[in-house]
Amino acid sequence: MICDSIDIKCPSCGDLAKFEEPFVFKDPKRIPDNIEHKSWGGWGVIERFPSDFKWVAPSGSSQFLRGGGDNGQGGYPLLTYGLVQCGGCHQNKKHKLNLLSKMGQSQISCIIGSSYIAMLSV
Ligand SMILES: [Zn+2]
Repeated sequence: MICDSIDIKCPSCGDLAKFEEPFVFKDPKRIPDNIEHKSWGGWGVIERFPSDFKWVAPSGSSQFLRGGGDNGQGGYPLLTYGLVQCGGCHQNKKHKLNLLSKMGQSQISCIIGSSYIAMLSV
């Protein structure tokens, strides 16, 4: 499942750029055998950009997905750390997004698959 990326302003040149979530979270039973993934909190985690972003499970015991940025509430924050792909300056760089609670549920469901929306703590 490849998601629509999110339009942002490039942090380097100010042009229109794309923010890509580095991981896809899916029901492991729905991930084909030939797709490499990690297990975390009942999820199968697929790395979209393995050379830039390796999955590292968040510290602590809380295994859930949430929005809201990097606020120390545990779990993994969606749409917070990702890759910026800019057509202006052609940079592909890691970026911390400051969207906080502005994300829509459609963006979250794109990342994880709609059946897991109820598990989100947003
Ligand atoms: Zn740029």
